[in-house]
Amino acid sequence: MKIHEYQAKQIFARYGIPVPKGEPAFSVAEAEAAAQRLIEATGIPVVVVKAQIHAGGRGKGGGVKVAKGGVAEARALAEKILGMQLITVQTGPAGQKVRRLYIEQGLDIDREIYLALTLDRDRRRIAVMASREGGMDIEQVAHDTPEKIHTLHVDPVIGLAPYQARKLAFALGLGAKEQMRQFTKLLDGLYKCFLAEDCSLVEVNPLVVTKKGDIVALDGKMTFDDNAEIRHPEWANLRDADEEDPVELEAKQVGISYVSLDGDIGCLVNGAGLAMGTMDIILHYGGKPANFLDVGGGATQEQVKKAFQMILRSDKVKGIFVNIFGGIMRCDVVAAGIVAATKELGLSVPLVVRLEGTNVEAGRKILDESGLKIESASSMGDGAQKIVAAVKPGAAA
Ligand code: ADP
Ligand code: MG
Repeated sequence: MKIHEYQAKQIFARYGIPVPKGEPAFSVAEAEAAAQRLIEATGIPVVVVKAQIHAGGRGKGGGVKVAKGGVAEARALAEKILGMQLITVQTGPAGQKVRRLYIEQGLDIDREIYLALTLDRDRRRIAVMASREGGMDIEQVAHDTPEKIHTLHVDPVIGLAPYQARKLAFALGLGAKEQMRQFTKLLDGLYKCFLAEDCSLVEVNPLVVTKKGDIVALDGKMTFDDNAEIRHPEWANLRDADEEDPVELEAKQVGISYVSLDGDIGCLVNGAGLAMGTMDIILHYGGKPANFLDVGGGATQEQVKKAFQMILRSDKVKGIFVNIFGGIMRCDVVAAGIVAATKELGLSVPLVVRLEGTNVEAGRKILDESGLKIESASSMGDGAQKIVAAVKPGAAA
């Protein structure tokens, strides 16, 4: 789960990480009032109006603007940015509608640094990555000049060792006494934040050194590890449903794992492993899955129905492949769920079903008697070939 920059900064502040003063705003009037308060508090008539969407690259896309002309200019910028369809390298071509703003004190920036904490799954450790080349596209830096990215791994038993933080500070050119103190304190706070908030990513790009020499987190991106949701009731309030895929959200509410993908073959599968295998075999035969959907082992007929309806309602789906191996899951429950779903929404695309395992005969009987136009498959490979052929006639070899 992702959160907005302003939410990440509010959390940063709780860990003693310096952030600029700022206020979220949901309307132009709120933005104007926030700008007024900030200018009064800082005594400097410079504020930054920042679009709040769950994607980076906002600056280049026109979603971050500095107002040097005080409240009036801030208001004009808020009018322009709020409601705009912001397109960045991370939003995809359709962009994302801006519904929230962050009005922030403008800082005099001397240097922009990149700093991030993430989980390195290969090393099974939290990795701290940093570069002097901050503020810009870090993927580009990693690609063109990987030597400019410094990485350290944290021993989970020892934690972030002071010598590691100092070494990184030197690499970033922050070796002078006061900056070293500020940087190591900040990094320590970020590490504690990463652990306690159950993050999978904390990215500060840029971390800035101001003209006065202070180190401040100017941007904040935070992604939580969804597996830890049970420990964080407060996440419910941080969630912004407008930024999430509506179908994925619905799936979550029903208790099924669903991820939208780019292709056109809808898949209903039980078990994450089988679901991944199904996606692979569809690709193998030249098709493209429209989703990853694992109804799980103990799904009820109602859950299967809801899951199947999600696939049916998607207009990108040109064909459906149901691949069930009934272990704990009973084939008749799946069949009944599918039939119930189509009773309400109809079935206008080809459907291939491969059903094996517990109560398979009962399941097949339900499907046979439903009158639905179903092509049955004798194996996973057979089913994948059939659905690919049905969606793209002539494509399957
Ligand atoms: P994004 O990464 O989505 O483009 P950032 O928050 O990193 O958004 O802002 C983009 C750039 O805008 C920063 O690299 C910085 O140069 C400038 N900027 C952002 N916030 C401020 C601020 N409070 N004061 C001065 N400049 C800022
Ligand atoms: Mg940024």
